[in-house]
Amino acid sequence: MPARDNMCFVIAIDGPAAAGKGTVAKTVSNHFGFAYLDTGLLYRAVAAKTLLGEDPVKAAERLDLETLNNSNLRSAEVANAASKVAGIPEVRAALFHFQKRFAQRPGGAVLDGRDIGTAICPDADLKLFVTAASEVRAKRRFEELRENGAFIDYEKVLTDLKARDARDMSRQDAPLVAANDAKIIDTSDLTIEQSNERAVKLTQMALDDLYQ
Ligand code: C5P
Repeated sequence: MPARDNMCFVIAIDGPAAAGKGTVAKTVSNHFGFAYLDTGLLYRAVAAKTLLGEDPVKAAERLDLETLNNSNLRSAEVANAASKVAGIPEVRAALFHFQKRFAQRPGGAVLDGRDIGTAICPDADLKLFVTAASEVRAKRRFEELRENGAFIDYEKVLTDLKARDARDMSRQDAPLVAANDAKIIDTSDLTIEQSNERAVKLTQMALDDLYQ
């Protein structure tokens, strides 16, 4: 079913790093014509500025959306720094309204991150929690980094990923946790196509429930 102009349908997709939530989110947004926001990029953009010496709270308050297109945001260094700045409540508060406004776009929106279903859009029409075993996620991330020419060791990728998960799950403010009403997609033994198929099917069911 195509998106309707007056529709305000929100899909919250959360999960740990490299579980496949970005791929699923992009597929669902393309399939249904919904706007898509990768909220991890907001934290990465703040982290990148912090690595250059800026104060994290000021960087979050002044975040200019052009920065989100910066190609260095995908590095392992920025990812680790992002999960550190994400633990600062004032940084989260500064990024809250942008995400909230994005979710209210007419025509439907998909947001992916760590706290979309629990803190940003607790009333989302559909919540997905995309996860996978840490070894599987580390292997995917390792292969992706190697394809991009990085010299990196699998064990280091696994250690960094576990440290990032631990920080994301243990922070006080909006920790990474599946919302009670989230549908879980464990991608450990699924192909990308199978994961996408599940997400599209769950979205179609939620739309049918709401609009038919
Ligand atoms: O999703 P991505 O790996 O790009 O996110 C980078 C970091 O940003 C995460 O490890 C997490 O600490 C933080 N983040 C967050 N809340 C979100 C999205 C990302 O705390 N909604």
